[in-house]
Amino acid sequence: MRSRVAKHRHSAFQAQKGLCFYCNQPMVSAKKKHHPNRCTAEHLRAKCVGGSDRASNIVAACWHCNHHRHAGKQHAPEPSEWKELMQATNKPSIDSVGTF
Ligand SMILES: [Zn+2]
Repeated sequence: MRSRVAKHRHSAFQAQKGLCFYCNQPMVSAKKKHHPNRCTAEHLRAKCVGGSDRASNIVAACWHCNHHRHAGKQHAPEPSEWKELMQATNKPSIDSVGTF
């Protein structure tokens, strides 16, 4: 089954030339289930705060950036904020973003 989100993810992946929205590093196919750089669909505005599944709300981000933006946080950092952080720190470990 190909969901709408997956379709948008694919379009975003193409539009971003395969680079992560946040860290700008090349992503691998979403089919590589355990790869930290695999392409995931990132909701700029999280669904839990009313974000939609529309293309305008979805970008392609690597699993690492996507996962850490949302992991254990009540409020995910703003996309622009997170992007800066990801590019400035070049993939921090889980621990180093734990204080966010
Ligand atoms: Zn990334």
